[in-house]
Amino acid sequence: MGLESIVPCLPRETLEKIATVPPPRIGMGSDSLGWRWEDNRKFTTRSAYGALCGEGEINGAVYWRQIWKMSVPQRICMFFWLAFHGRLLTNEERVRRHLSVSIRCSICSTGPESIEHALRLCSKARRVWEILIPPSKLSLFDALSFEDWLLQGIRNVASIGTRDDLWSTRFAVTCWLIWKSCCAQILGGVDFNSEGLARHCRGAAVEYAAAHACRQVPRVSI
Ligand SMILES: [Zn+2]
Repeated sequence: MGLESIVPCLPRETLEKIATVPPPRIGMGSDSLGWRWEDNRKFTTRSAYGALCGEGEINGAVYWRQIWKMSVPQRICMFFWLAFHGRLLTNEERVRRHLSVSIRCSICSTGPESIEHALRLCSKARRVWEILIPPSKLSLFDALSFEDWLLQGIRNVASIGTRDDLWSTRFAVTCWLIWKSCCAQILGGVDFNSEGLARHCRGAAVEYAAAHACRQVPRVSI
């Protein structure tokens, strides 16, 4: 049965979700079932309890709190809030609001520009992640749903990133700078330089984390 035969039976949102799932690639290994609420995909009662309490859902308050706890400027927290709510002005969103006639990505022209495409799948964004993420983590990077990918990024878990305290900061800064670079290329004709952007992301994450640590130092009263 082809995909076209189920199109009339499913809502548009579901079809779009299916369309965003990347096809299998050589080297990714075979599909397997896993528990989505643990980084190692193994079931635990702790995570099951958390999921039942709503912590595993994208709308769970714990994740909203996590966004505002990141060691980044408020404008980046706001950017994530918009991304989680699907409010970034991608070409898909522009067409939905009748501001544009094409949903195609203006940078790579290979697919519709959704939020996931802009931050994760577009060739320029993909190159940035390939520089920042260890090669051994890239298969999981590709396999996670977009929601899980965002959540794992801001939760500072090392499953898709690097084993240091800076990962969530670097992840947040990278998403934000990728989005800014997309806008700069589309609106201002500034070339999206993936290598330069990756270097900038590393430096900016260190600076933001250091600034955040300074603000966390408790004042000593005498
Ligand atoms: Zn693209």
